[in-house]
Amino acid sequence: MEEQDKFSLLIVDDEKMNLMVLNRILSAEYNIFTAKSGLEALVRLERVTPDLMLMDILMPGMSGFEVIKKLKASPFTSEIPVIFITGLNSVESEEKGLEMGAVDYITKPFKNTLVRMRVKTHIQMLKNLRTIEKIGLLDPLTEVPNRRNFDKRMEVEFKRAKRDGRRVSFLMIDIDYFKRYNDTYGHLQGDVLLKEVAQLIAAEAKRPADMTVRLGGEEFGVLLPDTSLEAALVVAERARTSIESAVVPVVDTGKGSSVTVSIGVSSILPNQESTSNQLIGLADKCLYEAKNSGRNRIKSSPVN
Ligand code: GH3
Ligand code: MG
Ligand code: MG
Repeated sequence: MEEQDKFSLLIVDDEKMNLMVLNRILSAEYNIFTAKSGLEALVRLERVTPDLMLMDILMPGMSGFEVIKKLKASPFTSEIPVIFITGLNSVESEEKGLEMGAVDYITKPFKNTLVRMRVKTHIQMLKNLRTIEKIGLLDPLTEVPNRRNFDKRMEVEFKRAKRDGRRVSFLMIDIDYFKRYNDTYGHLQGDVLLKEVAQLIAAEAKRPADMTVRLGGEEFGVLLPDTSLEAALVVAERARTSIESAVVPVVDTGKGSSVTVSIGVSSILPNQESTSNQLIGLADKCLYEAKNSGRNRIKSSPVN
């Protein structure tokens, strides 16, 4: 496995021997960071966010319990799962550790295979969790953000724009005669095309704050925070021409196909009463005009 693909562990233990042993057991599968005290661990965590922590409870200075309390209190570290490794072989301390938010507990002297398996179990759970999170935020077909994801971002960006007195622009994009495309090439090929169009749109919304969304069916949106209407029109025109000139292979035929899109563009400098629905509604109206005036074109209007 490549180093950058490995999950990372932070091991915290005051006994050098334990650090060495755990490092030896786990370093083939994980990127290992170590800390010899609770304080050192907290300093480490300012620069790295491990996927999982293994931590001793009894340490001079700051105990494992004190460290986990601090971790849980900060939004930057509260999500890091912690496994306690300790010689404290008592039910009470195990209970206390779990109550404080540890995900598991391993007692010393530990068996190498047991440590490896416990860590593996928790890493697997993390992987599952991340997959679920990803699925929940992306449209599974096109792999661009879904509506739910977009609605949340729009809310945040709109608030920010209000606060900072900045403009927000929005594109609403709809594939022209897509029903005909489906009828000609079949629904599966329609899916291939949708995916391609989504990626072509996303490739033009390049800034980190830009967001492409599949609004539904063959309709996409692009949120462009801190962007003037003129700049939004440039993005829209780039998306339109890139889609118009793209030749999408028709599966199993050796042939290519093409489509065009119509785009409505709106822009707003929000005041206290403004809503994101105004911005989206106007883009929708412009899109309707673009369709009615012949398709494969852009219509725009600023809210203000
Ligand atoms: P217009 O130029 O006016 O936009 O015409 P249109 O045919 O693109 O629009 P219409 O709304 O009549 O048809 C949209 C089509 O999009 C119909 C529907 O079957 C298809 N569609 C919606 N979602 C999907 C999908 O996930 N996959 C595929 N293959 N087709 C889809
Ligand atoms: Mg359409
Ligand atoms: Mg449509």
